[in-house]
Amino acid sequence: MDYKRRQRELLTVLEANACAGMLVTHMPNVRYLSGFTGSSGVLAMAAGKLPRLAFFTDGRYTQQAREQVKGAKVFTPQAPALSSAMDWLKQQLPKNARVAFEADRTTVSAQTSLRKLNGGRLRFVSSSNWIERIRTIKEPEEIKILRSAILLGSGVFEAVLPDIKPGVTESRIAAEIEYLSRRLGAQGMAFDTLVSAGKRSALPHGVASSAQIPAKGFVIIDMGVIVAGYRSDMTRTVHMGQPDKKSLKIYDAVLRAQLAAIETVKAGVETWEVDQAARKSLEKDGLAEYFTHSSGHGVGLEIHELPGLRKAAKGQKKPRKPSPDALRPGMVITIEPGAYVPGVGGVRIEDMVLVTETGCQILTPTRKDLIVL
Ligand code: ZN
Ligand code: ZN
Repeated sequence: MDYKRRQRELLTVLEANACAGMLVTHMPNVRYLSGFTGSSGVLAMAAGKLPRLAFFTDGRYTQQAREQVKGAKVFTPQAPALSSAMDWLKQQLPKNARVAFEADRTTVSAQTSLRKLNGGRLRFVSSSNWIERIRTIKEPEEIKILRSAILLGSGVFEAVLPDIKPGVTESRIAAEIEYLSRRLGAQGMAFDTLVSAGKRSALPHGVASSAQIPAKGFVIIDMGVIVAGYRSDMTRTVHMGQPDKKSLKIYDAVLRAQLAAIETVKAGVETWEVDQAARKSLEKDGLAEYFTHSSGHGVGLEIHELPGLRKAAKGQKKPRKPSPDALRPGMVITIEPGAYVPGVGGVRIEDMVLVTETGCQILTPTRKDLIVL
């Protein structure tokens, strides 16, 4: 991982926002910038010709921090990490220097204690998604890890297909998926495995329940694993018994929408254009009203990262030059349209793709024709 580059990129953002320093407290951001994988610590950065970084954590992590942290001095003070980090910044920076903190990741009470610790010495500036935006472009090494997470996840999905039988509960299927994932080397699950069967498949966020798999109907499985800190995310919808015409129509429409969205993905394309492609396709099939979420999201150290593939605003036009939020090469995003017809059932198909200059590479290898069990 190129921590030096990441730290330099953040320095550029600080300079663009006239900030002399930053406090990083959101742990995935701390990890991204320093390599520290523990669950508690604060990273402080002071701007200069080169960025100066200091990492503060407690005694539990002394050894781990020494081994993992790159490009930052490690401190394990007796005092709380946040107050030590503030002391360090006050030492490094002149009075009234502007210091960014992750306002939308900081609780109100933590903000109050930050102000107390500061004692009016530095000026706080709310940063918003500064590091998250750097994280959208994955390094080759990150892509390699993401690929192995995706392969592991797909292998687990295929291996549990024989377990999906009428009468088995949704949570049993989720348990099989999670057990096998751990056995095959996953650090954990990227999120709670979703299994929703029959009429419950019409719930877009169907957490696996004690409901049984019916003899007939869709089963949506949305699952992801963690490998070396990075997450995978895939959804497949299978059908129990022979599907009737109506169900086939829904499945084909969602698959068409998913392929249409993937077809649109390319560097320079606005994220809402991808969503629009899926929506327009579903509209042609008369199912647009049943597509009730966004078309996808970035994935990496967290399951929902930037960019979000949201719906276009009313009357939104394609800008002449790509906006700062447009897709860029190296982004890894999900494409996951769905249709959820109350009383009938739902279908969602989700792949992870890597954005390239000319299009995208589909990273999820699992087949997408309807699997009938
Ligand atoms: Zn998913
Ligand atoms: Zn997803």
